[in-house]
Amino acid sequence: MFADLHLHTCFSDGTFSPEEMVSHGQQHGLSALALTDHDTVEGCVRADLACQAAGIEFIPGTELTAEQEGNELHVLGYLIDIQHPGLLAEIAKFQTVRQNRIREMVVRLNQVRVPLTAEAVFALANCRSPGRPHVARALVQAGLCTSLDEAFERFLKKSRPAWVPNFKMSAADAIHLIHQAGGVAVLAHPGLNHADEVIPGMAEAGLDGIECFHTKHSTATAEHYLELADRFHLLVTGGSDCHGLNKGKPLIGSVKLPYQHVEKLKAKAAERKSAAAIK
Ligand code: AMP
Ligand code: ZN
Ligand code: FE
Ligand code: FE
Repeated sequence: MFADLHLHTCFSDGTFSPEEMVSHGQQHGLSALALTDHDTVEGCVRADLACQAAGIEFIPGTELTAEQEGNELHVLGYLIDIQHPGLLAEIAKFQTVRQNRIREMVVRLNQVRVPLTAEAVFALANCRSPGRPHVARALVQAGLCTSLDEAFERFLKKSRPAWVPNFKMSAADAIHLIHQAGGVAVLAHPGLNHADEVIPGMAEAGLDGIECFHTKHSTATAEHYLELADRFHLLVTGGSDCHGLNKGKPLIGSVKLPYQHVEKLKAKAAERKSAAAIK
């Protein structure tokens, strides 16, 4: 039995609906799926229903944009209560900033005579948690760029004309928020964020796990993080980080996490939930 614990849908910057994501998971024979859209839990209700219909275990999740010592980090929250008022209030703040950021990116594009409108981006994104990939897709759709890569290279990458920084909470706040919502906090793809030096501090702040297996982690990288997980007594997770068709071929199924790690995640969440209930 295998799981994929890192998946995006059209509720952030993926292209699949929750139902399409689940159908792909079923084709790959996965036993459990986690939805981890950026700074939102909007897709979880539909993904849960689709998983129930497909006989797949659903793990509600999110991927919070965070930072530590100036490095951008992504913190995955698993088995969170998606109705938790504190979590929803924080997520709403994130989403307002993301929407304002889209408007600012469009102003900057207009300043370099690229006639995109914010409305075109919002219509295409059709979600509360829009980001740069939606701007890139809108640029292609309007015929202003020929590919997503061109949009990032010319306009959206850091230090390009339309780049606007995203809001990031501190890694410790992200961990705390996930715990408050009864969830388990996991550092996403540390190999992509040069995150080794922040792991001891995050472990101190209550981090529960490390995403050792990820599409962009080599076997050596995965082994390195398995060692660190062991050293800091952290759980091990893994997922494909599939964004549907956004990055070419769908990645779902490319990382198959042995189900025993899901069992450990659930045991940790049960601990967290009883601790949250006592507080
Ligand atoms: P944001 O959170 O709005 O800053 O957007 C980050 C997203 O943009 C991530 O999902 C990245 O994978 C994606 N991204 C960054 N650079 C590129 C690129 N050159 N081509 C396509 N997607 C990219
Ligand atoms: Zn993404
Ligand atoms: Fe990420
Ligand atoms: Fe992701």
